[in-house]
Amino acid sequence: MNSAKPLVGSFVRIQKRDLQSLVDELKAVHDRVVGPREIDSAIVYDDLDHVDQLPIGVIDHQEGGVYRLTHESSDSHFDYVVGPQSLKSFLFPPHETISESFRKDGQWEIQAVETPATRIAVLGPRACDLRGLAIQDKVFLEGPYVDPGYKRRRDALFIVAVNCRRSVATCFCHAMDCGPAVTSHFDLALTEMDECFAVEIGTSAGGVAMDATSWEPMSETEVAQAKEVSVELEESMRNGTSARQMETGGIRELLMDNLEHPRWQEVADRCLSCGNCTMVCPTCFCSSADEVADLSGDHVRRERSWASCFTAEHSYMHSGNVRKTTRSRYRQWLTHKLATWQDQFDSSGCTGCGRCITWCPVGIDLTEEVAAIRGE
Ligand code: SF4
Ligand code: SF4
Repeated sequence: MNSAKPLVGSFVRIQKRDLQSLVDELKAVHDRVVGPREIDSAIVYDDLDHVDQLPIGVIDHQEGGVYRLTHESSDSHFDYVVGPQSLKSFLFPPHETISESFRKDGQWEIQAVETPATRIAVLGPRACDLRGLAIQDKVFLEGPYVDPGYKRRRDALFIVAVNCRRSVATCFCHAMDCGPAVTSHFDLALTEMDECFAVEIGTSAGGVAMDATSWEPMSETEVAQAKEVSVELEESMRNGTSARQMETGGIRELLMDNLEHPRWQEVADRCLSCGNCTMVCPTCFCSSADEVADLSGDHVRRERSWASCFTAEHSYMHSGNVRKTTRSRYRQWLTHKLATWQDQFDSSGCTGCGRCITWCPVGIDLTEEVAAIRGE
């Protein structure tokens, strides 16, 4: 154990066997520690007690509509890339009670539900996930109305990010300027090296979390070697050997000037309007609210649930659907994500994580759709 705390912005080295000390320290000060685990043939976030539960030696293979894990004889802890979950469900849960109404003496009283947030430490988010988090922060915290539940959960979240060492064929974070290097929105960031982890300290809370773990300072040469992991990966993604590409120059005008392009109908002919793409997307934030009454008639809960712009109900207004066809729904999703999101939030709504490609049951690929509209 070290007496000094590592400074914010510094890099330290921990031996792989000491990762458990870090997990134990996080468990001591958080209600839950979650990390990547292989469950039902997918890498998902679940409670983590011991580093042996990490997907050691597991590699993922992804393509349009394809997700497959293989097991290698290596001691790599984080060489899968992304699973179906991002950080979204920890901060913006799929279902949440947001208020309750009680009838007393013939009057209704409405109360906000202010359940204290669970303090969660998450091990494993990648650069694309952290950009997704930054985008959702903007939506839920930085507009005219702050979402109080999101804020409580966000304040209680501790993030141990991981720099990717490999990409899968559906990744294009480099094209969206979102990765592969982790650059912000983390408390600690790990880069897995052959014998050790390089740990970048992102916040003072991150420095404190290193208290119980043996660490050593890294020399400038060692820090450069750790950073080179992301540099080499980005080069391989840019030269097209390990990732999707997407040309983003003028994309807002391209899409908004081509709202009647025949490609929208071609993609609609394949799209099942299932909404999978919106469920796995780390930035999609649509929701619906339902009033749920109990049998007494004196108590009503207002339940918020994730919604998808691919459902007919989502665009129901004043006795009719505004977007009646799959063509109009797919066009709404893509133009919002890549074009009008810029007007609303001053950024793209896409981080290049590739989840919507992998988890689309028919393999629809937004990079391919944009290229087709460009005439490529
Ligand atoms: S649109 Fe697709 S690639 Fe972009 S952030 Fe959402 S899921 Fe990831
Ligand atoms: S694009 Fe794919 S995932 Fe999205 S709604 Fe259509 S079929 Fe489902």
